[in-house]
Order: sequence, then structure tokens, then C-alpha cells
Amino acid sequence: HLPTAELQALDAAHHLHPFTNGAELETKGARVITRAKGVTLTDSDGNNYLDAMAGLWCVNIGYGRDEPAEAAARQMRELPFYNTFFQTTHVPAIALAARLAELAPGDLNHVFFAGSGSEANDTNIRMVRTYWAQKGQPEKNIIISRKNAYHGSSMGSGSLGGMTFMHEQGGLPIPNIHHIDQPHWWSEGGDTSPEDFGLERARQLEQAIEDLGADRVAAFIAEPIQGAGGVVVPPATYWPEIQRICDEHGILLIADEVICGFGRTGSWFGSTTLDIRPHIMTVAKGLSSGYAPIGGSIVCDEVAEVINNCEFAHGYTYSGHPMACAVALENLRILDEEGIVDRVAQHSGPYLQQKWHGLVEHPLVGEAPIVGMMGSIALTPDAATRAKFAGNEGDVGLICREHCFQNGLVMRHVGDRMIISPPLVITDAEIDTLVERAWTALDLTHAQLKQ
Ligand code: PLP
Repeated sequence: HLPTAELQALDAAHHLHPFTNGAELETKGARVITRAKGVTLTDSDGNNYLDAMAGLWCVNIGYGRDEPAEAAARQMRELPFYNTFFQTTHVPAIALAARLAELAPGDLNHVFFAGSGSEANDTNIRMVRTYWAQKGQPEKNIIISRKNAYHGSSMGSGSLGGMTFMHEQGGLPIPNIHHIDQPHWWSEGGDTSPEDFGLERARQLEQAIEDLGADRVAAFIAEPIQGAGGVVVPPATYWPEIQRICDEHGILLIADEVICGFGRTGSWFGSTTLDIRPHIMTVAKGLSSGYAPIGGSIVCDEVAEVINNCEFAHGYTYSGHPMACAVALENLRILDEEGIVDRVAQHSGPYLQQKWHGLVEHPLVGEAPIVGMMGSIALTPDAATRAKFAGNEGDVGLICREHCFQNGLVMRHVGDRMIISPPLVITDAEIDTLVERAWTALDLTHAQLKQ
């Protein structure tokens, strides 16, 4: 390929990137990733990085597996495309829907496919509103979500998300979306105990339902563990209370499993790990380990039955794309037959967790929560008071992220939290390297702050 500088110039000239400051692309150039294997990325200059983010929280089986590529090629030769509209279907969509129904908890037995997590959450908005309209309650159309949540970037899913900087662009949120606070004890809990704080934050849902009227609230959506918001592990009291409130007030519960699904938390779904009983789960990312773009909504019997009683006027050209379904099936086979999900629960998860927790010994680290293989560390000038740094939130996180890159480690920062979500196939030796490099990046960040 072309030399790196030329690739970067072409990229800056013609390629508009998601969530990227375009001016910086011109001055610094994007990092050009050319190959990957296992947990290791290689850039156009031959530098290697341990990818502690599995791309965008998605490459659960690791990079460079032949089987999904072969499944894609086989399917593309046999039937590269057909749609699932107007009473047609095809074998890969049938097989994947049936497999997901097997894997999903409870009576989540029905799948509506999409091309991504954003599209799937858009489906959810229309599906829950249609559900209540079909049941004679069209006014029951408000969806409650959480501040600082990320549920996608389309007009619908971006509205469910609670990131104000996203709402400021493009006129979000759409009507009848309401946001409550997140259960983020470390940064917002003050002197309240985590248990009481978890209850307090859950009861904001009950308060909102009472204020808006249970006859107006259609659904509550949340990730079991909030990912892009900073890997916010809720206090143990939070989810049982949310579940009680949804049950008692007749509110549909949507678990966004786009990050938490497919082994990330040590079981097939975050809802299983946290004992949540959703009516709908959003899936994407780990469904295909990122090898093909695919998402979906896994729906319970009751909601599916009501939706099936009308023509749900919704769908995407690529709903159940044959190649993407074939790749997802192969990915699920690998996760299952190679025992990858069990290994996260029994061996590699606990090994990573023990190492990760050790980072709290570093003077810059306030807490190091981790469930399965999604974890974060809070950077702070004073762990005892959970203080924030002077200056702009995120400046220190950015410095730390750069030191990670310089030391061959991809970690993401959300504000002043550093985040990991490595491929689930990471070995013990690679976990050691990950944590060592994180420690070095923290040391260098600490030294830079003292200058
Ligand atoms: N939901 C959650 C929890 C996510 O983290 C994301 C993406 O990061 C999405 C939805 C949107 O998925 P996609 O980027 O596939 O549209």
C-alpha cells in the first residue's frame, strides 16, 4: 500500500470520521490499522498494539479467524442477498433467529434483525410504541432512558442516549423520550452508601413514572452495565429495584446488550449476569464479533404476539442479511464450542479482574471496577475524596490514552476514566502485558502532571 503519510493525507482529504475532530486529522493524521491477529493490531508502519478495546467492544473471538471469513464466502456464493420482507425468508436468518432464541434467557424467543445496534434500538422505539397502540393505549409512548447513556447515533437511538453533547447536534432528542440519572456512585454518590445510592437512583424511575403517569410510560431502556458512559457498574441494589418498579407499573424493560452480550460479562448476556428479566434485548457487536455488520432485537413472547397481530411497518433492506447471519452463526459456534464464554466466567475473567483491581494501588487511580471482561479505572488526584482534576474533564484521560498508545496498548478514555473491553480470547500472558502497559502509562501520566 501507499506510504503512511500519503494514506493519511488522502484520508484527511476525503474521509469523514465518526466522533473525530477533523482538524486534528489534518495535523496529526489518523492511525492506519492494516492487520490484526488475536488481540494484536498492526499499523501501516509495522507497530503492534495490544487492543484492550476489542475494536469498539466487539471482537469477542479475537481478530484473524478464518472460519467466519469462510462462512461469509460460502454464503455469498450460495445466496449473497435476499430480503426478509413480504413473507420471504432464508436459511441463515431462520437458523440465527432460532439459535438466539435458544441462547436468550426466559421467553425471549423472537428476533427482529437490523444492521447495527443503532438500528435495533430504533426498532425498539417503534416496536414498544406499536405494542401499546395495538393494546389500545397509543398515549403510552414515552420511553425513559438514562443521562450519559449511549444507545447509538441515529435520530432515535441518539435520543435514547443521554449524552448532551450529542443532543446539541441535529436537534435531539425526538419527542417523548425522558432521561433520569445514572447509578454512578463513584462520581455522583457523595456521602451516600453505594447501596442507598443504588436505591435512590432506581427510585428516580418510579418518580418519573408517577410524574409522567404510568399510562404514558411505554418502556425503560438501559444497559445492564453502562459501557460507553464509562463502564458504570451499578450498586447491587439498583437492578432488583428497577425490576420491581417495571413489574409493578407495567412498564416494558429493554436491556441494551450491545456491549454486555455474548460473553462480555461472563455469561451469554449481561441480563443473566445481573439477574434482569427484560422484555426486549438489543444485540449487535459481539453477535458477529464485528466480522459482519448485524444487530437485532430479541423479543419476548407477549410483545411478539401483539406485534405479529398487525403488519409492523418497519424493516431494513439488510434485516437478516444472509452473509451477516452466516457469519454471526459461525461466531456463536466458536464462542460456544471453544468454551470462550465459560472461560471468561471461570478462568480468564477472574484472572483479569484480580490484576485489574491491583491498579488501585497506583496513586492516580481511585477505583477499578470490572465485571467479566469490561472494566474501567477512575483517574483522580485524590482517591480518598474521589476528587476531580482541575481543568477540563477528560484532559488527563486523553494524556493517559496517548501514553497507552505510545506503549503499545489501546485503551479508551471516557472523561477521566480509562476503559478496557479486550477480546475474550486474551491469554493470561497477554493480560499480564495489558496491565503492565496500563501501569506504565499511568506512571508516565503521573510524571507529566507533576511537571
Ligand atoms: N447500544 C450500545 C450500548 C452501544 O454501545 C452501541 C455502540 O457502541 C450501540 C447501541 C450502537 O450500536 P451501533 O454502533 O452498532 O449502531
